[in-house]
Amino acid sequence: MIKFNEKAPYAPVEYLYDVEEILYKGRSRFQEIIVIRNPYYGRMLLLDDVVQITERDEFFYHEMMTHIVMHSHPEPKKVVVIGGGDGGVVREVLKHKTVEKVFFVEIDEEVINVSRKFFPTVSAGMDDARVEIKIMDGADFVLNRKQADIDAVIIDSTDIIGFARSLFTTDFFNNVKNCLTKDGMFVTHTESLHFHKDIVIEIQEVLKKVFPVVDLYTAPIATYPGNWWAFAVASKNLSPREVRRRYDISTKYYSDEIHRQAFMPIGMYEKLMQRKLEW
Ligand code: SAM
Repeated sequence: MIKFNEKAPYAPVEYLYDVEEILYKGRSRFQEIIVIRNPYYGRMLLLDDVVQITERDEFFYHEMMTHIVMHSHPEPKKVVVIGGGDGGVVREVLKHKTVEKVFFVEIDEEVINVSRKFFPTVSAGMDDARVEIKIMDGADFVLNRKQADIDAVIIDSTDIIGFARSLFTTDFFNNVKNCLTKDGMFVTHTESLHFHKDIVIEIQEVLKKVFPVVDLYTAPIATYPGNWWAFAVASKNLSPREVRRRYDISTKYYSDEIHRQAFMPIGMYEKLMQRKLEW
């Protein structure tokens, strides 16, 4: 059987995946896009040879990326999803009946097209009437938005290299803050607590210069190197640790209990930020 060797950026490991079939291979203006089928994970989406999602475990990431901010906001109506060209986060956002509008801002239209064709269960929400697709850099979207009317901004980008770098600068975080309502929430992935502790800490530090409330939660993701995946969450006012929603949604992994347990205990968080964790 052919193998796909993933050399993930700045991780000290490589992965070797069995490939039953290469379903798609193409190059967009931004990146190489490949879809393969693996006996365990099912269909897998690769961008520039880095695994983005798999049919088997995508819901862990998409639910945890989405529902923490959506459930700690009391009534999220207007949401911005930046990146996430596969559509998984948009699908999860639409589960919230309060949502009236989703700006889906993806730089590479080809990722959306490939996902529509090869990942129909992930891209399912893209044609919902509440979704407005914008093909552009997410940094320009928040820079040009002049009203503070967004309830949640969710960043589901590729790794923090190349054109995704624009989504991890102080200017970008300031522009996000300016788009948010007073109860607005922001979340972004920040790599692995095992392999990328310095990146996790640095993003927390930068966010603290911009937002009054900054926190960190994690989720177990089988396919991302380091597996113990960290998310940075920030707001102008509300703690993301509290579940404020008043309705149920259907999920496979996320629950109220997972929401509370996903956050790093305060003492451990303080040690992490003081760079005193001995691992
Ligand atoms: N969940 C995946 C992961 O963490 O590996 C990410 C999936 S999603 C396919 C990532 C998307 O972010 C890609 O389609 C990429 O084109 C998009 N992206 C990267 N930088 C961007 C930017 N500056 N503005 C908008 N979209 C961006």
